[in-house]
Amino acid sequence: MADFSSKHCRPNLRLNVPKRSPCIDIPTLSSSSEGDLILDDVEKLQVLGHGNSGIVYQVRHKRTSYVHALKVVHAYFDPMTLRSVRREIDILRRTDSPNIVQFHGSFEAPSGDVGILLEHMDLGTLDTLLKNKGPFSESQVVAVARQVLAGLSYLHENKIVHRDIKPSNLLVNQNMEVKISDFGVSKVLSRTLDTCDSYVGTGAYMSPERFNPDSCGGNYNGYAADIWSLGLTLFELYVGRFPLLPAGQRPEWAALMCAICFNDPPALPESASDEFRSFMECCLKKESSERWTASQLLNHPFLSQQ
Ligand code: ATP
Ligand code: MG
Repeated sequence: MADFSSKHCRPNLRLNVPKRSPCIDIPTLSSSSEGDLILDDVEKLQVLGHGNSGIVYQVRHKRTSYVHALKVVHAYFDPMTLRSVRREIDILRRTDSPNIVQFHGSFEAPSGDVGILLEHMDLGTLDTLLKNKGPFSESQVVAVARQVLAGLSYLHENKIVHRDIKPSNLLVNQNMEVKISDFGVSKVLSRTLDTCDSYVGTGAYMSPERFNPDSCGGNYNGYAADIWSLGLTLFELYVGRFPLLPAGQRPEWAALMCAICFNDPPALPESASDEFRSFMECCLKKESSERWTASQLLNHPFLSQQ
């Protein structure tokens, strides 16, 4: 259950909550200081998920009656959070791809809360799907890989690195369309400087050169790092659990350091096809310069399978 304690509730900032929903308060406002949306434009239906930065609600747009997802980030004028959510909005605004979650508008409330209205993905995340339905078949992994790679290739062509590809940041809908979401730590690279230097994202899915930046002089190739995270994500969907640590082991720093930086990349089980093995090797090359790019991987024989 969400933490709806007083720090998230403001006396004059209350959105109408339908009777059938649990009592949830989220801020409302009559005018937006920034952005093209106001919170009064939408009616909240239920909580869809929680992240490090805020809460995501299912909402209905009052004028159009369309159902959307609304990510509310409690920035509270914290400059770091505000900067990161503004960057997320900026990146979402720039993107237009069938494999990137669609952006519908944003607001900044006087309270410091920032809202991002997104396409609602009604089956949730690949992480939830994995937990509820169990491991994916190889052909299901192919279907996911094609779509995420199409999204990643679009991002990379536009000099955007995602930096947090993992099952819980990939959304699915009833049509089994898979879309990349959560651009909270993403970055647009400049033309001259194509490397990244900050330690952001989710440790467990980081590539060796990101997890241990000292190994590459502090700079890493963000595009290649996204490919490692994608490889690990697809591996996880197939085997049903995080592949770098034994089942049940907590992803602590030392265990991850050994698994990511010192051990060989994991091997797929016998049941996997040769094409799948080869594809995985191309994603999980420890040396980042040897990893295939998203557009190369889109032409890998693994993706030609039915
Ligand atoms: P974290 O930093 O922990 O990865 P976050 O605060 O950046 O998360 P998101 O990953 O964007 O937030 O969203 C949190 C959760 O909300 C997701 O894991 C998912 O369950 C749900 N969610 C987010 N966007 C949507 C959407 N468009 N449709 C359906 N559910 C969504
Ligand atoms: Mg997330």
